[in-house]
Amino acid sequence: MADITIDQFEKEALAWLESVAERRPVEKAFVWGEGSDNFYREKDRDQEAKNAEEAKVWRQKKFDAGFGWISGPKEYGGRELPAAYDRLYNQLEVQFRVPDNGPFGISLGMVTPTIQAHGSQTARDAYVRRLWRGEMIACQLFSEPGAGSDLASLTTKAEKDGDVWVITGQKVWTTGAHYSDIGEIIARTDWDLPKHKGLTGFIVDMKDPNVEIRPLKQMTGGASFNEIFFNEVRVPDDHRLGDVNNGWNVALTTLMNERASIGTGNAGDGNLLTRVTAMVRHYGLDKDPLVRVQLADLIMNYRVASMNGQRAAAKIKMGQLPGPEMSITKMALVNNQAKLVKFLSHTLGPKLIADSGEWGTYAWANFVLGTPGLRIAGGSDEVMRNITGERVLGLPKEPGIDSVSPFRDIKVSTPKK
Ligand SMILES: Cc1cc2nc3c(=O)[nH]c(=O)nc-3n(C[C@H](O)[C@H](O)[C@H](O)COP(=O)(O)OP(=O)(O)OC[C@H]3O[C@@H](n4cnc5c(N)ncnc54)[C@H](O)[C@@H]3O)c2cc1C
Repeated sequence: MADITIDQFEKEALAWLESVAERRPVEKAFVWGEGSDNFYREKDRDQEAKNAEEAKVWRQKKFDAGFGWISGPKEYGGRELPAAYDRLYNQLEVQFRVPDNGPFGISLGMVTPTIQAHGSQTARDAYVRRLWRGEMIACQLFSEPGAGSDLASLTTKAEKDGDVWVITGQKVWTTGAHYSDIGEIIARTDWDLPKHKGLTGFIVDMKDPNVEIRPLKQMTGGASFNEIFFNEVRVPDDHRLGDVNNGWNVALTTLMNERASIGTGNAGDGNLLTRVTAMVRHYGLDKDPLVRVQLADLIMNYRVASMNGQRAAAKIKMGQLPGPEMSITKMALVNNQAKLVKFLSHTLGPKLIADSGEWGTYAWANFVLGTPGLRIAGGSDEVMRNITGERVLGLPKEPGIDSVSPFRDIKVSTPKK
């Protein structure tokens, strides 16, 4: 039983928010051509760093007031209240002007649950509370130039030297590494085992002088990705996640949470569809039967994806592990977005490519350019289909010898004994 009723909690949370933040003005119904059309612009690196700092300060304030980890364990500063209190707080917080929570997405949604599940007592004590309090941000160091979808082919190595591990290799596409304090890395610790079996997870210090972070520029103009070079970075053994050579399970914990967050995040984006519908009306296309069919199809598919996402989210709330419905929801989300992009291209034509100054047209460009990335992040479309084929439809696995042979024998570029 919670020691505070949900009504008392609501009063407490509202009183606190009123005392520290300004209320957002009530949002007016969306009208085409009114206000700013800048709704999907990428932040540059300086803006990202500034946002991360502001978000950290806000999170610390919130944590100290008892709203930082409402359903979390008391041991790490949580209140152990039911998840419904968490949801209520989030609904209240959006009514106030507070910093964007984005920099914590990977950190709290993916890496921290992995540290909780697989970290040593020392690591959990050192990081879990500080991550939730926003003193630190964590990034995900999985992908490499030669290992993305086939993550288990990674070649960054960790070698034991007394009580420490020495990590050498390269990671790529690391979101937010430039404002992160620590990272969850998966490295190869045994080259004689099959590829999934010789991996181990670690927590690394991103401020270590032997960690080199280089920005990668995106076609959207932002640079939120990085390539990272680990030049013999020394990591204490108590920063190992899980058992030696059990890194695949550690990675799966993180990836399941990643798919859950992508799948349930914005599957039913009502604001987006309101904007599209207003655009269609503005151009008088709502009289065109073909356009009407396409728009209705988009709205229905977004709605179905949203319901599937809610089904998956309900499962998580009941303490069950997110299953293959996460892959289905992710596929539905990206399919819908790709359809929407096609629809926008047909409707706006050249106005999407060059800024003509006309309100609400070129504003879609970043959204359009960001869509291919969504098809890849958190598991590409093809990989999601493979998962669905194997785990939902019971189709046979892809043939291959690489899951049984020693990794040393299947990777051409790996050191021979
Ligand atoms: C927005 C975004 C954020 C990201 N953030 C991070 C991050 O923070 N940390 C991190 O570690 N990584 C991150 N990544 C990297 C991401 O995990 C990889 O891009 C992804 O796993 C795909 O790997 P890859 O790019 O090497 O492509 P590849 O795996 O080389 O795939 C290339 C093409 O081959 C297809 N393909 C591959 N295998 C199969 C198969 N078995 N069957 C059929 N088709 C196949 C793929 O679908 C794809 O079309 C991010 C990526 C994006 C786009």
